[in-house]
Amino acid sequence: MSIQENLAQIKTTLPEEVTLVAVSKTKPVSDLQLAYDAGQRVFGENKIQEMTQKWEALPKDIKWHMIGHVQRNKVKYMAHYVHLVHGVDSLKLLLEIDKQAKRHQRVISCLLQVHIAEEDTKFGFDEEELMKLTQDATLQQLANIRITGLMGMATFTEDKEQIRREFKTLKSLFERLKTALPQLDTLSMGMSGDYDIAVEEGSTMVRIGSSIFGARNYNT
Ligand SMILES: *Cc1c(COP(=O)(O)O)cnc(C)c1O
Repeated sequence: MSIQENLAQIKTTLPEEVTLVAVSKTKPVSDLQLAYDAGQRVFGENKIQEMTQKWEALPKDIKWHMIGHVQRNKVKYMAHYVHLVHGVDSLKLLLEIDKQAKRHQRVISCLLQVHIAEEDTKFGFDEEELMKLTQDATLQQLANIRITGLMGMATFTEDKEQIRREFKTLKSLFERLKTALPQLDTLSMGMSGDYDIAVEEGSTMVRIGSSIFGARNYNT
């Protein structure tokens, strides 16, 4: 199936209020253009340099989401255009995003990445760290960032019940955190292999790559 057909197919299965981030990492600009022509305006990349090259090449009404692990020294390369940073995993990184956003007189929306996978290879805060961070007075002083939600990745496994359990954990954390931070409105969870479960468990934003653009080839 073509990129346009894949997009159309996925959209029929997504509730209207769930935002689809088309994860285009490693894919050529021509593939993104096809998705754009089919109406897609939200793209996710996991490398700042690659995202910036694509931002330069493509129409400026695209909303660029940084979904990967962010190195602090590279924030400055995306601060003038990035729409949402999904993978925030430290206060130090928030401070840097705030500083760079200020230079461009912008407010950058950020999601805090939560470690929900039972496997321990993924980045992110655990529940205790998250509660500590959201009560940190430093955070209130950062005028150029806005924390709008949480992001998480389930374990890479065939075990659907485990995946569901992990998404449930994230959703309940999200709901609890919302009592302290009522501005939270985004729960980014779900990828090609598990977004159906994520949506059932309350995701508001799914990040889908290979089901739209096909398998990635990291050797080219
Ligand atoms: C690559 C990636 C995705 C998309 O993965 P697919 O399985 O291709 O849909 C989603 N989220 C993050 C953080 C990623 O790095």
